[in-house]
Amino acid sequence: MGFLYRSTRNSEETATASEAILKGLADDGGLFVPDEIPAMDISFEELSKMSYREVAFEVMKLMLTDFSDEELRYCINSAYDSKFDNELIVPVKYHHGAFIAELFHGKTIAFKDMALSILPYLMTTAAKKNNIKNEIVILTATSGDTGKAALAGFADVPGTRIAVFYPKNGVSPIQEMQMVTEKGKNTFVAGITGNFDDAQTGVKKMFSDPELAKELADKGFQFSSANSINIGRLVPQIVYYIYSYTRLIAAGRINDGDKVNVAVPTGNFGNILAAYYASLMGMPVDRFICASNDNKVLYDFFTTGTYDRNREFILTTSPSMDILISSNLERLIYRIAGNNAEQNAALMKQLSEEGKYSIDDQMKKNLFHFYGNYATQDEVAKTIRQVYDEDGYVIDTHTAVAVNVYDKYKAETKDYDTPVIIASTASPYKFTRSVMTAIDPAYDTSTDFQLVDELSKLSAVKIPQAIEEIRDAEVRHKTVCDKEDMTKVVKEFLGI
Ligand SMILES: *Cc1c(COP(=O)(O)O)cnc(C)c1O
Repeated sequence: MGFLYRSTRNSEETATASEAILKGLADDGGLFVPDEIPAMDISFEELSKMSYREVAFEVMKLMLTDFSDEELRYCINSAYDSKFDNELIVPVKYHHGAFIAELFHGKTIAFKDMALSILPYLMTTAAKKNNIKNEIVILTATSGDTGKAALAGFADVPGTRIAVFYPKNGVSPIQEMQMVTEKGKNTFVAGITGNFDDAQTGVKKMFSDPELAKELADKGFQFSSANSINIGRLVPQIVYYIYSYTRLIAAGRINDGDKVNVAVPTGNFGNILAAYYASLMGMPVDRFICASNDNKVLYDFFTTGTYDRNREFILTTSPSMDILISSNLERLIYRIAGNNAEQNAALMKQLSEEGKYSIDDQMKKNLFHFYGNYATQDEVAKTIRQVYDEDGYVIDTHTAVAVNVYDKYKAETKDYDTPVIIASTASPYKFTRSVMTAIDPAYDTSTDFQLVDELSKLSAVKIPQAIEEIRDAEVRHKTVCDKEDMTKVVKEFLGI
């Protein structure tokens, strides 16, 4: 049946792929990692002739070992269809000397759709395979984009309910509108008086509370996670790196085997970890350029070897990256420790008790392929303006963090020749105020929807359906709760 998944904190805790998807988090609080990462069994040249769906199948069948071909094709075909407003699913464009993989053509115009449009299918298929009769309750903490993408994916999916927590004052107005107007009957959305880390910590606490799990089970419910700690999100994200690489082959820009760099605007470390997994499956990547905003814990980690979350949390113009605890980094730590669960568990214990940990010299050496840097808010605005001035292409604030850090990487390393794939993680329509005022400060007096119309004129890109549908939608979710009350409101939502 193929390899199993194992907890990063206890190598005795194993699960099949479908069990790992259902659970989200391992019982010991660790993350599930594959026992081995298989190499692609088909050449990139051949993949370059395939559609997104076909590439997805070739990648996912190797990682999700207990799913049948038929099950996987059903999930993939249901997810990557006309919900996407571009038939390529991920168009790769050339601007500013870089290949920009536009990952935002799904329903909620952020890259989270790439995984969250398939996760509900993977999860309901996994439930069937494992004879789960309970209703699955998806608990999600969001820095803005995961929330709506998960709501859109799970809305009215039979056998599931979904509760989303976002930082009340920590998301963009458009992000908040998208979430609080969600119509799905099985959905619940609450703002919390705290930041993203508080939301994530609250959700993790609910997951690892055995009494709560028992209470739920008695009423026919069980929790799962739509956050990027779930391997059901990580695996679909590997696909678009391999797809983008093979599009460069198809376009004659590189040959099969040529090395590329990837630059990723990073928060919870899920997206860039997927790029790393893609390279372990055989995609030739030289450097992983990890781009942070002013919450630059990862930059400090890559430069010093110490991860230290004890610092001020800064609200920036790239809110989906306003994070001090990058959960998925744990999977990389585990790997650079030589898949040593004990060592990883000790470091994670330090992180939760002291808010910091340091890695040893051998682990540091194993990080050789990673480069970290960060962009300040002023630099982000300048970069948006610069890219727009060059050829009229408008990027969002998160993508701009990656573009700016890529420029810094080149200046620092003099590596001007390696082609780069930049993960463009959101449509500029999601962050119109920051984007438009970066281009011209005079826009600041306009309303959010005036800015939407102006952006459409400026960029000649049609206003996405995701924006049109919130223009005058009714606000349906008005709960705001204290971070201590998250469990209470979830119970109310479930009627227990
Ligand atoms: C979630 C998100 C990120 C960060 O991705 P991670 O996988 O959490 O590192 C970057 N940009 C946008 C627009 C996002 O929504």
